[in-house]
Amino acid sequence: MDLGIRGRRALVCASSKGLGRACAVALAAEGVHVTITARGGEALAATAAHIRSVYPDVDVAEVVGDITTPQGREAALKAAGDIDILVNNAGGPPPGDFRDWTRDDWIKALDANMLTPIELIKASVDGMMARKFGRIVNITSAAVKAPIDVLGLSNGARAGLTGFVAGIARKTVRENVTINGLLPGPFNTDRIRGNTRKPGMSEADLDEAIKARGLENPAGRIGEPQEFGQFCAFLCGANAGFITGQNILLDGGAYRGTL
Ligand code: NAP
Repeated sequence: MDLGIRGRRALVCASSKGLGRACAVALAAEGVHVTITARGGEALAATAAHIRSVYPDVDVAEVVGDITTPQGREAALKAAGDIDILVNNAGGPPPGDFRDWTRDDWIKALDANMLTPIELIKASVDGMMARKFGRIVNITSAAVKAPIDVLGLSNGARAGLTGFVAGIARKTVRENVTINGLLPGPFNTDRIRGNTRKPGMSEADLDEAIKARGLENPAGRIGEPQEFGQFCAFLCGANAGFITGQNILLDGGAYRGTL
């Protein structure tokens, strides 16, 4: 399927690894020029090199920086130019007990998972509306639909972003600018490997533990990042202009509700 976005420009935040990387690769496969970001330069350079080698017609800009800071966002936006597609992503907050969280912990979570996407939307949405094309995808979490008790920081920050987007997504769509949330369940990324790893575990034991975790899912497995990336690219497609303000779960059916 040709998604009709060849030659468009995307900023994909937090994209040297995992779900962000998969979104950048899937967009590049559609001929979209991508700006990718991460704090660590090495993995980012490797991802940029991969995209350049597989999709030589695509321009790839890499920006090393923390997207949750004003400087990180400014550098990313400057490198990306007039973007048609924005994929908001950043690391998730740590788990814990809410009794231990300070105001600073909350501000950090809100900065990363609520205010950073809002700032990037603010910086890019008017240009998209003026040009009559824009696709904004916020990578959030299945916890938006089914909050997880130990992930209170994530539940709170992502709910805030989701509420904000629900309002403006109905304002922008008239100009062919859509804003949607993609809600990952368990996906095979460094993050899930880090969360599953116990002290002293070998890589083989870790693979087994992740496999066991997958068996708890209705699909009998966890998701692969490219499945997420492909769906993100579809939502960014020319023919996805009638989908806005939605929060779409990609979780193998783990969420048991009908709505
Ligand atoms: P991941 O595999 O750990 O990859 C995270 C990527 O984001 C890396 O490229 C990392 O590079 C970059 N990054 C993190 N913080 C950043 C920052 N402040 N500024 C710039 N880049 C940053 O994580 P993932 O599994 O893809 O998760 C992506 C998002 O989905 C997270 O918010 C996570 O909570 C959420 N999520 C994931 C799952 C899952 O099963 N994988 C499930 C639910 C929700 P650097 O470290 O070098 O910056």
